Amino acid sequence: TELSRIRNFSIIAHIDHGKSTLADRFIQTCGGLTSREMAEQVLDSMDIERERGITIKAQCVTLNYTARDGQVYKLNFIDTPGHVDFSYEVSRSLYACEGALLVVDAGQGVEAQSVANCYTAIEQGLEVVPVLNKMDLPQAEPERVAAEIEDIIGIDASSAVRCSAKSGMGVEDVLEDLIQKIPPPTGDRSAPLQALIIDSWFDNYLGVVSLVRVTQGVLRKGEKIVIKSTGKAWNADKVGIFKPKPYDTNILEAGDVGFVVAGIKAIHGAPVGDTIVHHKFADETPRLPGFKKIQPQVYAGLFPVSSDDYNDFRDALDKLTLNDASLFFEPESSDALGFGFRCGFLGMLHMEIIQERLEREYDIDLVTTAPTVIYEVLTKRGETLSVDSPSKLPDIGSIEEMREPIVQANILVPQEHLGNVIALCEQKRGVQKSMHFTTRQVQLSYELPMAEVVLDFFDRLKSVSRGFASLDYHFIRFQAANLVRLDVLINGERVDALALIVHRELANHKGRQLVEKMKELIPRQMFDIAIQAAIGNQVVSRVTVKALRKNVTAKCYGGDVSRKKKLLQKQKDGKKRMKQVGNVEVPQDAFLAVLKID
Ligand code: GDP
Ligand code: MG
Repeated sequence: TELSRIRNFSIIAHIDHGKSTLADRFIQTCGGLTSREMAEQVLDSMDIERERGITIKAQCVTLNYTARDGQVYKLNFIDTPGHVDFSYEVSRSLYACEGALLVVDAGQGVEAQSVANCYTAIEQGLEVVPVLNKMDLPQAEPERVAAEIEDIIGIDASSAVRCSAKSGMGVEDVLEDLIQKIPPPTGDRSAPLQALIIDSWFDNYLGVVSLVRVTQGVLRKGEKIVIKSTGKAWNADKVGIFKPKPYDTNILEAGDVGFVVAGIKAIHGAPVGDTIVHHKFADETPRLPGFKKIQPQVYAGLFPVSSDDYNDFRDALDKLTLNDASLFFEPESSDALGFGFRCGFLGMLHMEIIQERLEREYDIDLVTTAPTVIYEVLTKRGETLSVDSPSKLPDIGSIEEMREPIVQANILVPQEHLGNVIALCEQKRGVQKSMHFTTRQVQLSYELPMAEVVLDFFDRLKSVSRGFASLDYHFIRFQAANLVRLDVLINGERVDALALIVHRELANHKGRQLVEKMKELIPRQMFDIAIQAAIGNQVVSRVTVKALRKNVTAKCYGGDVSRKKKLLQKQKDGKKRMKQVGNVEVPQDAFLAVLKID
């Protein structure tokens, strides 16, 4: 296909504004799949994505669209995730594109992620084409929302196409509009091959599959290619596009987006952000600028319930990181929990999803410790340490200063909920930076401690605004703060996996709440269990889980056998996600009790 008839674009939006539905419509309009195959929403293909109704991984599809001018255009589009935890996926997929379709729900209006993703697209030099979706709904207010796009984001929305991804109304107009507005790709096809790896994943049969954008030259099946960072040469065995099913074209030319399989079995043999070049011109073809390295923001210990799973667990993490560069892990050993891994995530949703994938796709039962952000510690000897786990905090006496990460949070909220949102931000130690009124919504900017934002801020924000406020945030700096380690002791033993780093002024209060919560979550056992919270040697709070009087199954004796069996089975299932700490059985929930206090 001539360059002038190719369009590469991403679809960006706030979560639930209809990206995936619109993408499915495009596939249907262009005849990518039969209607039976369309029955299920095709693009969200991971089980977890379907169940949760969210997109986690960016997906690429190539379609042929016969436009009203009679020409056939090749459209490569990438459906991207809308949740703040996955914005790195968005930024990565934008590297493959010249334009971005900004889908805005015409009833909801602009939300924080629409703004954030749109700015990323503009920064990367993309043409942003706004679209007003959900026009079938009675609450759609296209004029107001178009004005909001201009006011809050600052792009012209006067000619934004109005459509309904659900009914199909206006969907062809969207395709026509993007062909007009988004520029075609450029790239010299006679130059030596140069292609950017946008994404890579591991397929059990094929090995590593990479999604690439060819920036110059041609990638042909059978040719020898080199992965720039490793310098290793491979044979391009399979070359093709997603329609959305994989389809071999045996060639990708400059301007194209598609996949290549080159018999790479080592998981890190084709890293995301790397450049593929032709073997013959490997040295003289430069590497393309890769992606900004992203730092995990939330760290937690993950421990297999059964130590037999340790090696499988490490392999699974290895495979997941190929596809998810933001996932960090390193071995960690805990007195209480044994051998596991310290893992770094982009946020709580990311953490939940990784945990769920490990359990489902790799069948590993895990116990997770309370998440923490990363702290900076200046020691009296003048060293600066990064601390991603309370148990790695040096002795109090050797600490000169502790610094916590601060984020800038951008919040959009309808005026009627403004007061509640401000109160919440103040409660979370926020400092207001700016406030901007538009016709209906207020744009608020706060600096907040990251620790207060990553855990439950989002849920609280939603609840104080009846679901109407939206949030985007990013790290800005470390700042000195009065922080201490809060230890938890079970029957007098300090449990490393339960320690927390908290603000000094809140420590007593948190300690009290934490032990109370743990008392509810740790089941009664054959003996009394003392739970204490302490700062250094000073105990701030103490509770006791009283011993059980009788054996639980005792009352079933002589009774019906199947009932007793059921009870035992139930106890066994409950035990799956428990860890033995000393002689006390501690369930998963108790390790995460900190998430349930405020
Ligand atoms: P995404 O998170 O942006 O990918 O959003 P989805 O495509 O998953 O859509 C979120 C929800 O909005 C789903 O329940 C869709 O059925 C619904 N939806 C999407 N487009 C429309 C539309 O044009 N009209 C109506 N009424 N609902 C829509
Ligand atoms: Mg989606």
